[in-house]
Amino acid sequence: MKNNDKNELGFATRAIHDGYDPATEQGALVPPVYMTSTFTFENAEQGAALFAGEEDGHFYSRISNPTLSLLELRMASLEGAEAAMATASGMGAITSTLWTILAQGDEIIVDKTLYGCTFTFFQHGLTKFGVTVKHVDMRDPENLRSAITDKTKVVYFETPANPNMRLVEIGAIAQIAKENGLITVVDNTYATPYLTRPIDLGADIVVHSATKYLGGHGDLVAGIVAGSADIITRIRLEGVKDMTGAVMAPLTAFQIMRGLKTLEIRMDRHCSSAQMIAEQLEQHPAVEKVFYPGLESFEQHGLAKRQMSKPGGMIAFELVGGISVGMRFMNELKLIKRAVSLGDVDTLIQHPASMTHSTYTPEERAEHDISDSLMRISIGLETPDDIMADLNSALDLIINSENSEDKKVA
Ligand SMILES: *Cc1c(COP(=O)(O)O)cnc(C)c1O
Repeated sequence: MKNNDKNELGFATRAIHDGYDPATEQGALVPPVYMTSTFTFENAEQGAALFAGEEDGHFYSRISNPTLSLLELRMASLEGAEAAMATASGMGAITSTLWTILAQGDEIIVDKTLYGCTFTFFQHGLTKFGVTVKHVDMRDPENLRSAITDKTKVVYFETPANPNMRLVEIGAIAQIAKENGLITVVDNTYATPYLTRPIDLGADIVVHSATKYLGGHGDLVAGIVAGSADIITRIRLEGVKDMTGAVMAPLTAFQIMRGLKTLEIRMDRHCSSAQMIAEQLEQHPAVEKVFYPGLESFEQHGLAKRQMSKPGGMIAFELVGGISVGMRFMNELKLIKRAVSLGDVDTLIQHPASMTHSTYTPEERAEHDISDSLMRISIGLETPDDIMADLNSALDLIINSENSEDKKVA
């Protein structure tokens, strides 16, 4: 669905109201959920016209559904895109997009740090069908320029990247891509359009795991793709309709729209809590290093300030003593839950090397800067002091037990 007046109203207003007039639905404040797989034709001729694309309308829910259309319109508006498409999962968004825009013999250049299943899709999925995948460190955009060949079609990255928080300068990469006729795809899951709008900075396509901040409550799995009307139509009719079939259910679209209504205020709280917690973690003697874009000590702090309106709700960190201490630390936590996924109201902690990024071999993790001692925490919406107190008591416990072990040795 097309969106033309993206800048008329504020972000939160659009997230709550865009594309819906209660008068069209018997005054219902909340848009109804169209739980239907198919749509009837007035007559045989109309059915033929819909299938031929001569008439607009819904005819089967693998292609479109009014509840999904409203979510798609809102996501296009929030991302500043012409159009968007809802998918069954983030992986559904990523695979449907890339199956559509790549063909056998093409090359794709991707960043070194990627979500684990995205990495596996590139490494073991696309390559199986004759697509060449090249990994470069996109922190330096010149690495992209020197990797491009006449077979290169697509550039793909995350920023901040899962799990080590490395940033990529969207504008600089998109510029080089444009000069070379390449399509730039950005996974905007960590930042959300509230913090970063890749299309405004020159990217062509944005993909999301809507499972994370967009849904926001840890109760669904979903994805979104946003981009030009032309490319979204192709992804809908080639990638999703015929290749992946990764269709979102209407009830999931309803849940995500409910999540979107509070995206702005949730992100504000995720960011302010994460900033406070990152600063305090950095001061704790048990902590070796904290990776958070809002810290002065963060290598790309300057880029974070230019590219993100706020530094986000995700923190990566390492403990003194490495991951064996880290595992003990995670087991001491009481309020914070040990779980993968992120962007939920609940604070979640996990160990990428043995969990989300165990899809990499140890050699691949070393080569791609995903340290074995890294832990990843998604700061939730609990009272910030309670999250910090849980972290502090687990950190204090491991320090005290380290000390008593030292004493035993001495
Ligand atoms: C979780 C995640 C995905 C995959 O999304 P699913 O909804 O789990 O399929 C892709 N990219 C990033 C950055 C993620 O965190």
